[in-house]
Amino acid sequence: MKLALKEVLLGTALAILVFLAVRGFDITPLILIAAMVLVLKFTVDNRSQSSRFDVIERKGVSTTIPQVAFSDIGGQDVAKREFKEALDFIRLDQEVRALGIRPLKGILLVGPPGTGKTLMAKAAANYTNSVFIAASGSQFVEMYAGVGAKRVRQLFKKAYSEAEKAGKQAAIIFIDEIDVLGAKRGKNVSHMEYDQTLNELLTQIDGITVNQNIRLLVVGATNRADLLDSALLRPGRFDRIVKVDLPDRRGRLQILKIHAKGKPLADDVDLDKVAQSTFGFSGAHLESIMNEAAIQALRCRRQQITNEDLREAVEKVMLGERLERTPTEQERIRIAYHEAGHAVISEKVNAGSVASVTIVSRGNALGYMRQHEEDDRYLYTKDELLGRIQVCMAGAMAEELVFGQRSTGSLGDIEQAEKIAKKVIYSGLSDLGVVSSELPTMTLSRTINQIIQEQECIVREYLAANINKLHILAEVLLEQEKLSGQELRGILHQSA
Ligand code: ATP
Repeated sequence: MKLALKEVLLGTALAILVFLAVRGFDITPLILIAAMVLVLKFTVDNRSQSSRFDVIERKGVSTTIPQVAFSDIGGQDVAKREFKEALDFIRLDQEVRALGIRPLKGILLVGPPGTGKTLMAKAAANYTNSVFIAASGSQFVEMYAGVGAKRVRQLFKKAYSEAEKAGKQAAIIFIDEIDVLGAKRGKNVSHMEYDQTLNELLTQIDGITVNQNIRLLVVGATNRADLLDSALLRPGRFDRIVKVDLPDRRGRLQILKIHAKGKPLADDVDLDKVAQSTFGFSGAHLESIMNEAAIQALRCRRQQITNEDLREAVEKVMLGERLERTPTEQERIRIAYHEAGHAVISEKVNAGSVASVTIVSRGNALGYMRQHEEDDRYLYTKDELLGRIQVCMAGAMAEELVFGQRSTGSLGDIEQAEKIAKKVIYSGLSDLGVVSSELPTMTLSRTINQIIQEQECIVREYLAANINKLHILAEVLLEQEKLSGQELRGILHQSA
């Protein structure tokens, strides 16, 4: 209709111009004015068009269905199952309507960064044959009042129109970092604008009904669900919460295998070992490990990825890129003794725990000793925590024994030891017994000090009695710069 009206107006204008020209009027100024109006209109249209859709276009609107399937997501078995169950509300639309079930409007994915929340949302679109529209919470945050709310409206409108265009009956709107836009109302400095945006989101979600031709589902992702306004979480809005956690060892292996597809692996590669040594890594970290290992193989002009490439990649992802820092010879010797101290005590506390030790700088570390756990650990006893404090303080103790003084190189170790000591105290494992979270600062700091000092005494005694191990290890490290756990244990065994 709109188009027809435009054409009629254009035709009439042209007819008038021809009539005037035939009558002998000079129509040049009229043509010039018309051209200027057209240019102006074209510019304004273009601008408003881009601002209208920049919410999604910056992130790349996908009008097709993403090619990600749930089988491309490693681990997350529970999350995938729960998510799929919720999505079946969309797939079994007829049955849902027949039973008078109210439509599922929102699902919230909660979990640390890089665990696959975006992947899940894309797989959901694939699973439900929906178009996928993605936006990020921060894209709705604007200085100008009303802009965020307007963008929310445009986002929903866009979802319906894209689904219509693609001939789909469902659309999924994915809002990453939803906490930025859905934080508790009245908390933000420029709260009026934030509140308006959130109110608009609530209104749009409430507007989703079972009678619409296109079923709309909003999938939000956040790692801070506690920040969200309770209105967002109430039944009828984001009433399904799916936890997308860091993967366990089995999940890590699955993710590594997914990202190893199409990458030639040498026979010595054992992905299960890599999974074992990467406790606490997210899917994004694991993807990065496989990628970095392949880059390392390319650098060395190798056709296959070796175990060494993977070990190097794990350390790079964990600690950062190798640095070209050149410490003085005095510093190198100190670093070698420091790392040797960590390694000796790590093997004393937990035999076989050292994965590698090096005096090559990487990221913020001048040298480092990496441990690997036998299994994923979620619980620690008091002795295990104290053992970890011993490992932390062993670098400083070795320096003190050999050079008579510690150095600033132990700063990170002390912070780590302090954290563990706090865990001992707040878990009720210290001499204080069970304590309240409001423990006076003086008592807390005195107890932390006492715990660390006691462990330092044990470490000092052990290292003094095994000083030859320290000397030999430091010497080998100065020569070779890097030792694998196995090489280290061989040396310790010989020097026993
Ligand atoms: P953020 O919270 O930072 O937005 P996210 O949880 O949405 O992160 P994704 O963007 O889905 O994480 O994941 C980033 C990348 O990490 C993916 O493209 C993929 O390569 C990899 N990845 C993460 N989790 C998994 C997984 N479970 N299986 C396979 N790959 C994964």
